[in-house]
Amino acid sequence: RMSAQIIDGKATAAAIRSELKQKVDERLAAGGRAPGLAVILVGEDPASRVYVAHKRKDCDEVGFNSVSHDLPADTSQEELLALIDDLNGDAAIDGILVQLPLPAHIDTEAVIERIDPRKDVDGFHPCNVGRLALRIPILRPCTPRGVMTLLERTGEPLEGKNAVVVGASNIVGRPMALELLMARCTVTVCHSKTRDLQAHLAAADIVVAAVGIAGFIKGEWIKPGAMVMDVGINRREDGRLVGDVEFDSASERAGWITPVPGGVGPMTRATLLQNTFDAALRRDS
Ligand code: NDP
Repeated sequence: RMSAQIIDGKATAAAIRSELKQKVDERLAAGGRAPGLAVILVGEDPASRVYVAHKRKDCDEVGFNSVSHDLPADTSQEELLALIDDLNGDAAIDGILVQLPLPAHIDTEAVIERIDPRKDVDGFHPCNVGRLALRIPILRPCTPRGVMTLLERTGEPLEGKNAVVVGASNIVGRPMALELLMARCTVTVCHSKTRDLQAHLAAADIVVAAVGIAGFIKGEWIKPGAMVMDVGINRREDGRLVGDVEFDSASERAGWITPVPGGVGPMTRATLLQNTFDAALRRDS
């Protein structure tokens, strides 16, 4: 019986943070300034509050300057856009992050497009997604970039592999497909209208699951030896967090697999820090 190598996203994220901490210390020693990240939260969504708190804590750990803007749920779109304009013009701010989802009365696209693409550390601005599509990326969406970092750090060659992305959202599935294409994989994107998902998965050397349904992908569907990257974060009724892949059965067939929690999730956070550092470097030059 085969047993997959577990990809430890928590450890990789910790390694990235310590690499960044060292680079920040070097910058400061050379008379540079700390990278600055502005985090904007509108409203009281409990999950969003937790994510934002994590991002601020991560910034403290690596020596970034983080600035919090907690706005009430009834903040108007004009007020939010005006804050973004201020931050776009603020020399101490390298990255601007607007925590999603926004309240329903605010046009999310308009907000994302207002962020200076050079400060768009989430990588969601059409400029940054377009640059990724054209293979000239600058700031890359955090979750897909984090998945690529994990794939690369296994040391396995990615070129020529069949990659299947399950899920086609703007923040995960689509940019993930572009990343894998840039790494010279043969990429298939599956979504809710896909016919015979299992047939696609049977040929997949790399599977990225970003569906949002607990245990949706069964272990028997995985090609033996495949690299299985589980982006899903789903809370079961008993309170446990689980991925989109049935972990126990899939880890008997996969060559590599990410656990949930402790896989892709920590990498999304670490990649936000990398993007903020990259944005600061680029603004210096
Ligand atoms: P969305 O709900 O925006 O997208 C889900 C995608 O899955 C859609 O493209 C949808 O298809 C597809 N889908 C739904 N049902 C099926 C099905 N039966 N068969 C095949 N495809 C299906 O989710 P997100 O992309 O935002 O997030 C996905 C998961 O990843 C969630 O669990 C989320 O919590 C997690 N997540 C984790 C992050 C991390 O850091 N680890 C970061 C972001 C998200 P269609 O397009 O046809 O509707």
